[in-house]
Amino acid sequence: SSDLITGGAPLSTKKVGEHLLFSLTRNHGVRTLNEIRTEAGKHMASQRIPLVAGNWKMNFDHLEATYFVQQLAWKLRDIHFDYRHCEIALMPSFTSLRSVQVLVESDNLKIHYGAQAVSVTSQGAFTGDVSADMIAHLGCSYVIVGHSERRKYHPEDDANIVDQVRAVLAAGMQPILCVGESYEERRKGIELDFAVGQVHDVTRDLSDEEASRLIVAYEPIWAIGSGMVATPQSAQDAAKAIRDDLAETFGTHVGESVRILYGGSVSSKNAEELIGEPDVDGFLIGGAALNVDELTRICQLTMNATV
Ligand code: PEP
Repeated sequence: SSDLITGGAPLSTKKVGEHLLFSLTRNHGVRTLNEIRTEAGKHMASQRIPLVAGNWKMNFDHLEATYFVQQLAWKLRDIHFDYRHCEIALMPSFTSLRSVQVLVESDNLKIHYGAQAVSVTSQGAFTGDVSADMIAHLGCSYVIVGHSERRKYHPEDDANIVDQVRAVLAAGMQPILCVGESYEERRKGIELDFAVGQVHDVTRDLSDEEASRLIVAYEPIWAIGSGMVATPQSAQDAAKAIRDDLAETFGTHVGESVRILYGGSVSSKNAEELIGEPDVDGFLIGGAALNVDELTRICQLTMNATV
């Protein structure tokens, strides 16, 4: 049957890509293609530590933010959360970053944090803007770039998004580049080309080293805050298409190392299925990241999928 392929020996945990396929096809025994996909998925995922990133948007003042982080850390400790298998990052408002930094550093927490946007300039007469260096000096690891709400409410076109990505990388942080189709593109059946094109247009002039530090969040706009979630298969299809394009542009090593998150109405009800997909490396979460029990559960499900 075309669903059957020979195999049997345990997969190497060190090698990826062609090597994996080679070791599978040389071995004895019979497994279904689905079993192999599942094993390969876990294997691939083990090379990329999953990331659960909470985008708090314009919620929580600095006191609420600090309280939330403390609660989350306690709840994760209570469930013996293993940060080696799942990374957690929170994106508070600018006004909360310093408070979160103080808490994380004083309690030696393993939770990372970052900002939701960044200026494309480094300093000067840009009232209201915050530079990448200012954000980096607060201990931030990540900056969300090109979130659909920023694209909608602020003049953020591709050229501006490219500059944000560059600014974040130059300051030593990782951009979480958000892409994804609206309902209109999905209706026309061009969602994969659309998302891949968005990533391609923003990243094509980066060096391989810069591209390897990217994180991409595939967030279909119709799924954000709507309660409608992409099926695991369509999240996988988009993540795979984006990964393949990165591999083609920057080489297999970059394609295999960039983490691709899914975002759009993620909750504890759908996280397990989504993270089971081989190319989905975690989540960018809005609403559910405002509830500490819900976020703890999603982190737990994500961690369990990789151990
Ligand atoms: C988001 O804003 O990035 C997001 C995914 O929101 P939600 O989880 O609420 O859909």
